[in-house]
Amino acid sequence: MLSEKSVTELKANLRGRVIERGDRDYEEARKLYNAMIDKRPLLIAQCADVADVISSVRFGRQNNLLTAIRGGGHNGPGLGSCNDGLVIDLSPMKGVRVDPANRTVRVGPGCVQGDVDHAGHAFGLAVPAGIVSTTGIAGLTLGGGHGYLARKYGLTIDNLIEADVVLADGSFVTANPSHHEDLFWALRGGGGNFGVVTSFVFQGQPVSQVFAGPIFWKIEDARQIMRWYREFLPRAPVEFCPFLGVKTVPSTDPFPKELWGRKICALICCYNGPLDKAEQIFKLIRQELPSPILDWTGSMPFPTLQSLFDPLFPKGMQWYWKGDFVKELSDEAIDVHLNYAAKAPSELSLMHLYPIDGAVHRVGKDATAWSCRDATWSMVIAGIDPDPAKAGPITAWAKEYWEALHPFTMGGAYVNFMMEEGEDRVRATYGNNYERLVAIKNKYDPDNFFRVNQNIKPAGRKSEKVAAS
Ligand SMILES: Cc1cc2nc3c(=O)[nH]c(=O)nc-3n(C[C@H](O)[C@H](O)[C@H](O)COP(=O)(O)OP(=O)(O)OC[C@H]3O[C@@H](n4cnc5c(N)ncnc54)[C@H](O)[C@@H]3O)c2cc1C
Repeated sequence: MLSEKSVTELKANLRGRVIERGDRDYEEARKLYNAMIDKRPLLIAQCADVADVISSVRFGRQNNLLTAIRGGGHNGPGLGSCNDGLVIDLSPMKGVRVDPANRTVRVGPGCVQGDVDHAGHAFGLAVPAGIVSTTGIAGLTLGGGHGYLARKYGLTIDNLIEADVVLADGSFVTANPSHHEDLFWALRGGGGNFGVVTSFVFQGQPVSQVFAGPIFWKIEDARQIMRWYREFLPRAPVEFCPFLGVKTVPSTDPFPKELWGRKICALICCYNGPLDKAEQIFKLIRQELPSPILDWTGSMPFPTLQSLFDPLFPKGMQWYWKGDFVKELSDEAIDVHLNYAAKAPSELSLMHLYPIDGAVHRVGKDATAWSCRDATWSMVIAGIDPDPAKAGPITAWAKEYWEALHPFTMGGAYVNFMMEEGEDRVRATYGNNYERLVAIKNKYDPDNFFRVNQNIKPAGRKSEKVAAS
């Protein structure tokens, strides 16, 4: 039981607000991006600064509270919140500082992707990260982070230079290649297991105008497109990053009415390089593939591409997703994709294959916590719908689809494309890096205070039943 006195003390210690269950804005403050997840924390500490984070961590410890860390609140299984515990909500801690001389970008833990894209673009820079502008940069980065720039510049973690961290005992450290190297290694892919990151410093990369956009083909052409794609990608220049989607045209503007509800195979493209070279690639696509039913590629500022799909995916829909790393796209796997595409339970439900070759492969398997440096794609199968009544069908579809496809994949998955799937899945993802992560967890969080995440359990606690929600 929490005493009123201790809550009053926490409130007095924080510059930000502490929201309790009875408060007027509690319902709004606890909402997560995925409306399928309905968690009711006791307290939400909306931190204004690092001092607030330190006080919140100490409060959580002293009161033995299950404690979650929330960045953008976009996590699929809702690991940015918890039931009956404390949420350390970092969303007020925004702010991006671009240093154009050194091409570095310092990012607050409450920033979303769009904040970083916007700030960097003014300087002709971008931080390689995700593809939807509302996603939290903190959770995305700590899980690894991939998007349109991955083939050229690597994962988000490959562009991380430094992180400020509040540890489980409330102390503060800066982790980089020469200070707390072990922690810095673990933060690059190990998720929120090791502390609360209060500031990230990234290498900015030269990105400004890109040639990009979606191309749709009718589903009858999908087999040909997918076979072409698997052959083409390894020989494509790393400036070109097309991700593949098997999906449905949403029955909404701006899509042409005659396409609404049609099943499609899509390439969502981004070319970040000289525009004349982009033209050569898109000419090749037109020559080698059937005529598309929609081609919206063109030259656009990078932040425009990054927010292109935001209107389709507002906060508050039902999501159930599962992922896997994929090395090869066999004919048998294509059959499975087409079978489940035909059975998609809603127009927004989808399968995407995001390329993680090129620069991602140039980093060693043990150079960061992210060990899967030889996958060609990070795959996500997502059942999505605005209607809560569809929660069952979209979940069942995503699970069945994944079960059927899993034998054709590499075993582990991007931690940010997992629901709560248990320790074996987390181990499979980290592979040979898992034991090193456990050792670092032992050092920085031996009591598993930070356990509302894709949890890496400290050694000796394997049989302990750790509440994760
Ligand atoms: C529409 C959509 C599009 C997406 N697109 C991409 C994409 O293109 N590329 C990609 O890589 N991923 C993508 N993702 C997945 C995304 O990376 C995860 O959902 C990620 O968890 C989002 O981070 P967040 O800060 O919003 O999460 P939150 O829900 O706030 O937090 C999730 C987890 O991160 C940890 N965490 C958050 N902030 C901190 C912090 N400051 N310190 C320590 N731990 C912290 C917490 O432990 C928590 O477990 C997408 C997700 C959605 C919903």
